[in-house]
Amino acid sequence: MQKEFVFGGLPMRVLFGHGTLERLPEEAERLGMRRPMVLSTPEQRADAEALIARLDTLGAGGFFRATMHTPVDVTEAALAAVAEWKSDGLICLGGGSTTGLSKAIALRTDLPQIAVPTTYAGSEMTPILGETSNGEKRTQRSDKVLPETTIYDVDLTLGLPAALSATSGLNAVAHAVEALYAPDGNPVISLMAEAAIGAMVAALPAVLAAPGDRHARAQALYGAWLCGVCLGTVGMGLHHKLCHTLGGSFDLPHAPTHAVVLPYAVAYNASAAPDAMAVLRRQLGSSDPAVALHELGRRLGAPASLGTLGLRESDLDRAAQLATERSYPNPRPLVRQAIRSLLDDALHGRTPRQTEAATASGVGN
Ligand code: NAD
Repeated sequence: MQKEFVFGGLPMRVLFGHGTLERLPEEAERLGMRRPMVLSTPEQRADAEALIARLDTLGAGGFFRATMHTPVDVTEAALAAVAEWKSDGLICLGGGSTTGLSKAIALRTDLPQIAVPTTYAGSEMTPILGETSNGEKRTQRSDKVLPETTIYDVDLTLGLPAALSATSGLNAVAHAVEALYAPDGNPVISLMAEAAIGAMVAALPAVLAAPGDRHARAQALYGAWLCGVCLGTVGMGLHHKLCHTLGGSFDLPHAPTHAVVLPYAVAYNASAAPDAMAVLRRQLGSSDPAVALHELGRRLGAPASLGTLGLRESDLDRAAQLATERSYPNPRPLVRQAIRSLLDDALHGRTPRQTEAATASGVGN
């Protein structure tokens, strides 16, 4: 029998295809932009400047200092540039870091945003913003930060380096996996999540084999879009909590951390999320989804362990404590000792082991 659900779609306009960036000027005009500010990281400055040149009929400015984890001091510098330029809109070209900067400016100014993603992180599909100040990362939800328009241009992803393609792709898969067992899940998101996982696991090995393969890149970006919608629409569980903890308190890199942790989070939740596991078995073609995801990571050359990302044995107690000290929904109760042993396995890159779940859902210590 169909379970009860609530469905709330997010208002967004999406253009998807090859060469869609050509439509940026008309999309900017559609949102009434006359003097947009183009945002990027220092590494993608040349691409952002080329994009400004495309907007020659509009007086576009540029700010090229987007940084991982959206530090508030960078946002303040960008706000000063926006005020000085009298910008009336934001165009962010890049991955989650650049989208994050755009969202942080939109939160404070309510300016319209056009996102032009070049990784698979999915931030452009979410009303979520994480910001860092004084070494602490805080996350909030606000409709103000959801970009009005997203232009997915597959051609912009052809040069995404192989290592980043692998970790960013697995980061995206994690959004869809956790959507499958989200307590506020719904049938539409489950359909999207299953299609997303199927697209990503088919595309990523092909992308790694031939990074310029336009068909595989299109499939991966399509999957990433769906994964982003999953992340933006329903609540995430243990996997995202662990990655947030490891990134925020131990400074581990975002996408590689997601890539390492996912199989272990799946192994932990497997016995408490049978419907989600049925989908994963189908899409991964394996009776053990956690092991299949672990093997996929190896095949894609993703980092094998949290140890290689800088986590130490002496961090395990604190990490397990931070990840379990506050209650949040997860199919299997959060038992601190079991989470510690999950992290221990991930630290060493051991094959993920499915362990037994208690029956009740909620939090335990
Ligand atoms: P990123 O944006 O930090 O990009 C990593 C590096 O790759 C940067 O130097 C970037 O300039 C470069 N790069 C991006 N695309 C490229 C391309 N096509 N070719 C060459 N280089 C390219 O990495 P990310 O993983 O996309 O984003 C991570 C950040 O996004 C984290 O801070 C994370 O918390 C945030 N995030 C937020 C949400 C949300 O919903 N709020 C969702 C996902 C990620």
